[in-house]
Amino acid sequence: MECAGKGSRTPCAGGPPTRGCHRCRAVAYCSLSHQVSHWSVHRSECKRLEQQMKRADVLNDFPFTFTREATQIQGTRCSFLTRHGIHCLGMWKCECSCGISTTSFDNLRLADGWNLPSELCPCTGPSSPIPKRLTTWKDYCEWRCIPLYSPAALLLHWPLTVYQAIQLAIHQCLLPQISNELRIHYLGPEKELLQLPVFGELQALFPGVRMHIDLVGPAVPHHRDGEQIDLSYARCSQMDCRCKDSVGNHTEIRTTSAPCAVTLQLHAGCYHDCYGELVKDSFPHIILALNAGIAAYTSWLPTLELIKEIKVPAFFSDYCEEASYLAVCCISSATGTAPKIQIQMNPFRQPSRVEESALFLPCYSNCFLFGL
Ligand SMILES: [Zn+2]
Ligand SMILES: [Zn+2]
Ligand SMILES: [Zn+2]
Ligand SMILES: [Zn+2]
Ligand SMILES: [Zn+2]
Repeated sequence: MECAGKGSRTPCAGGPPTRGCHRCRAVAYCSLSHQVSHWSVHRSECKRLEQQMKRADVLNDFPFTFTREATQIQGTRCSFLTRHGIHCLGMWKCECSCGISTTSFDNLRLADGWNLPSELCPCTGPSSPIPKRLTTWKDYCEWRCIPLYSPAALLLHWPLTVYQAIQLAIHQCLLPQISNELRIHYLGPEKELLQLPVFGELQALFPGVRMHIDLVGPAVPHHRDGEQIDLSYARCSQMDCRCKDSVGNHTEIRTTSAPCAVTLQLHAGCYHDCYGELVKDSFPHIILALNAGIAAYTSWLPTLELIKEIKVPAFFSDYCEEASYLAVCCISSATGTAPKIQIQMNPFRQPSRVEESALFLPCYSNCFLFGL
């Protein structure tokens, strides 16, 4: 936690901020003077934050056995990951602060697997057809036979959030029922660039659909620009598991004759700069920008204008309700219209709290979704 008045004329008093705002209980201050000076800013948000704090219990509600620990404000990520034997390993590296400090997007690797035993992760195709609609982590875990003590959901929230956004788009008739192909423009990937193998799970979530995802953003390393990646299920750590049977051709449970179910392509640069090149041979069905931080980065403005112009449904996610609220304000003023899909909680938000938040407001990766 940081003092909400940080950055005012006088420096913060040392130590963690202990003076909470008694009304919203969402912010804290290092000193009375910072609380007083910040009131001119905070007065316009305090009531809204108070309402958002009332929904904290719902946001902190997950079916996992580790929920209690993973929803605490105090940092427990490193010990959590250590206990599951995955601390600073492969795709898990950027799930704690000490791991992320030693990785860079240049290390983008595709060979990483789950680093979990096969019964804890979806390393092969599903053993039963997907239920009509998955609406909770519990539904998903039951269908994929993953026990509720598995940490796999900490990475699976990426493909599941893609699934949720697409379900919302279909439900709101922004997308036709998907036939056999789905083209996604995925904007501003960051951390997920180091976790790309988990997107292989999309082939289980969209059986028989050929998915092509263009990942476009400034965090894509320039020397990987244009690279195409065919994904299959990320593998488990067991040498004798059947996910190792078909090296180079792990397609045994595929139901269609499609060449590859999930293809990613990397593009370095901002969307509005790459767009012309991207749509040369095909147009996207949907645009996704996860954990977008629209209100925090002015570089979103030209992209928002472009999205409005091309009339492709676009879905965004953010870490907390307040960030989503501010993003929607930005979208409304940049496009002149309110988002069609109002801010809603994502059932597939990452079930582990973001540690370095400036608010007591519950903060999760892919916590809320909204769309244009
Ligand atoms: Zn302060
Ligand atoms: Zn307040
Ligand atoms: Zn760590
Ligand atoms: Zn396996
Ligand atoms: Zn380039």
